[in-house]
Amino acid sequence: MPAPSARRPGTRRRRGSCSTRCADRVWPGCSRPRAWNPCTDRAEAAMTQLLDRRRFALLAGAALFGSSLPGRAQAPAPRPRIADMHSHLGLLKPVPDVRLREQMEATGTGLVAWALVDDQPWIRSTGAGIAQVGEPRPGDLWNWFLRESRVLDARLLRWGLPKALTPADVDAAMAGTPHVVMASESANFLEGDPGRLAQAHAMGLRHLQLVHYIASPLGDLQTTAPRHNGMPAVAREVIEGCRKLGILVDLAHSTPDFVDQALEASQARVVWSHSWIRAAGGRWQDWGYIARSLAPQQARKIAARGGVIGLWSVRARRDSSYPIYSIRAYADEIVRMADIVGPQAVGFGTDLDGAGPDPVLATYADLREVVNLLVQRGLPEAMLEGICGGNYARVLKQAMAA
Ligand SMILES: [Zn+2]
Repeated sequence: MPAPSARRPGTRRRRGSCSTRCADRVWPGCSRPRAWNPCTDRAEAAMTQLLDRRRFALLAGAALFGSSLPGRAQAPAPRPRIADMHSHLGLLKPVPDVRLREQMEATGTGLVAWALVDDQPWIRSTGAGIAQVGEPRPGDLWNWFLRESRVLDARLLRWGLPKALTPADVDAAMAGTPHVVMASESANFLEGDPGRLAQAHAMGLRHLQLVHYIASPLGDLQTTAPRHNGMPAVAREVIEGCRKLGILVDLAHSTPDFVDQALEASQARVVWSHSWIRAAGGRWQDWGYIARSLAPQQARKIAARGGVIGLWSVRARRDSSYPIYSIRAYADEIVRMADIVGPQAVGFGTDLDGAGPDPVLATYADLREVVNLLVQRGLPEAMLEGICGGNYARVLKQAMAA
């Protein structure tokens, strides 16, 4: 879930204090001086978009050239299978007409990581963003997790959707039989006890985000003042426990230090399921959608581990420098991310039904439209397949096979 609202609006980055050289190479290999004012996010985003448009034009040109060659003209357009690393569609709210399986079949969506929200009763959207508003008593988080697991199981049973439990299930999903990955946003239900991981795994959990919006014994959150001094030992145990059991570790909502320390602590397979890459990253005092952004340096570290970064569908109406404002812009942003971290590390993490008001994507039909736009741009087929689902399927299988 995102933090769509404001948090200390007066604490945004000060203007007029940056150097004139690119401090964070948004464009890989770029080291040329910036001719524009680097102190405004708007200028940064505009230039990035300009560079992207040039790249798209090149890609489109290459595709047109390719299609004019003999034997290429009649080739059917690729229809890559979709995987979504983070979705709540039809799970958080009782929406009887979602019919997830039908939606997945109709749109060629093979795999959806379906995330229950284990701190849901203790968080609220407030004027300052999503915040913790209550204190769970001992046992409350575990009981809520069990309750939500039963809801998840009941809906899957009604829709005839199987859980993806093994690498073979993931292959079947990506071959056309829709599966759901049981995911939890987050690991609060452990209540600090890594021993519960085995029970959750036995229930079908295969994708675990470590922290969310309530204070966690595992580490700091992107959206609140840090409380931990370094990564607690219990977090290392949980991450290593996930590796041994075959559960994919999701670092979304955690701080840059947390990402670094998690990567050092274990060889567990990791993803960052949902948010967006922002050149300057975010701070907990920023507006929610900025606080939740991922800095390129952390994104590249996750990519170097073989992980995948998912793009969410949150809309931010009052910020013209924020890049995700339409289905077409979502496709643009996917390509920009591929330039930052490499196409093998990019995926979809829509946050459907959890992305706040008026999200850019609301259904899997919208996500198929994104894919169609990527196909039209002439991205190489292997790159398309990876971004649209293959990358997530790859890392999930690697985690499951541990
Ligand atoms: Zn979230």
